[in-house]
Amino acid sequence: MTSRSSRLLTEARNVIPGGVNSPVRAFRAVGGEPPFIARGAGNYLYDVDGHEYVDLVSSWGALLLGHANPGVVAAATEAIGRGSSYGAPTESEIRLAEAIRDRFPTMRKVRLCSSGTEATMHAIRLARGATGRDVIVKMDGCYHGAHDSVLVAAGSGVATLGIPGSPGVPAGTAADTRVVPYNDLAATAALFEREGRKIACVIVEPVAGNMGTVPPLPGYLEGLRALCSDYGALLIFDEVMTGFRVSRGGAQQRFGVAPDLTTLGKVCGGGFPLAAFGGRDDLMDQLAPVGPIYQAGTLSGNPAGVAAGLATLNQLDDSVYDTLEASGAAIEAALAEPLAYYGFSFARVGSMFTVYFRPTAPTNYDEAKTCDTAAFARFFNAALSGGVYLPPSQFEAAFFGALLTGRALEQACDGLSAALVAAAE
Ligand SMILES: *Cc1c(COP(=O)(O)O)cnc(C)c1O
Repeated sequence: MTSRSSRLLTEARNVIPGGVNSPVRAFRAVGGEPPFIARGAGNYLYDVDGHEYVDLVSSWGALLLGHANPGVVAAATEAIGRGSSYGAPTESEIRLAEAIRDRFPTMRKVRLCSSGTEATMHAIRLARGATGRDVIVKMDGCYHGAHDSVLVAAGSGVATLGIPGSPGVPAGTAADTRVVPYNDLAATAALFEREGRKIACVIVEPVAGNMGTVPPLPGYLEGLRALCSDYGALLIFDEVMTGFRVSRGGAQQRFGVAPDLTTLGKVCGGGFPLAAFGGRDDLMDQLAPVGPIYQAGTLSGNPAGVAAGLATLNQLDDSVYDTLEASGAAIEAALAEPLAYYGFSFARVGSMFTVYFRPTAPTNYDEAKTCDTAAFARFFNAALSGGVYLPPSQFEAAFFGALLTGRALEQACDGLSAALVAAAE
């Protein structure tokens, strides 16, 4: 008998391209069909056929407090009861911007928008407008959303589907984007030597998470900071994934490097479409209506998203980060033996991690691409049938939240260990 998920996928394909509203959800890289989700509660997802999964995707990193966190649900519901959008300023937006600045002191001024894609698009426009330069630098395999100037060598979804950039990105737009390998300071320095005075900004994931989890090598972020300062280019940390996740103040706090501009998304909306960008006063005050650089959004600062974001940030105290670290260490310890035995590897920064099907964890995208993706697919499918929901691609980081303790943590460790054995066969 065909499952309800399978029937829904057939229906969905009639009206939605591939049946999904974002390509990686289609499971193309691992074979099989995605379960359709009926609901989430805490650490668990439930599909329409009644299967329960420990969720290690966490809405691609957006959730840090599990599904249907009572505080977030109450805050968002209460906000919606007072109207779901006004397109006018509200007090809550001030409080969320203050909460962000409190945790990210480099974000002296903040603007809210609705997706990570928007945040990076606006931050890049601001960098170009403020410097009067057109060229931007991104790292091979880093993902900064689905807009034209960064949809060049963009990792994960793009990598998974094997689309080089994408048709539809104008050659002229892509021509202003330079791509260098992640963690390669020498290549970046050489690029700056050639055309440093044309470079508006470097945009980077301070911990890469869209080619699998790839931590920055010691000195890398500091080196990017110095190069940008030397050449009058701006440094943008795209912390859409790492913000509030790898520490209370993101990667910039964890690694002690200050960017000029920061982009946030995912966790800061508590599961709602909300994102933000911000940075130095003198830069942010060049945005309209104060300055000439245009940026706008009808639903920006949406009351429900703002309420959910505030309710999330207010719950993220030190004990949350201690729990995340302990749970991450437990997963790492549980997998150490089978990983060593089968010659696979592992990378983790706080509550984001990747099991790599190659002997050592990669430091850049070229290395990540040498992974045995067929072994990953076996790993993924074994985990799924064992009740552990992983991102369906070798090049996507897994994420967990502060509720992953006790029974759920044990299930995750056991399920992943068993899946490693299946992957090796
Ligand atoms: C997810 C992500 C984005 C894009 O955010 P969306 O909300 O999906 O548009 C941008 N940058 C990074 C680092 C991301 O992980």
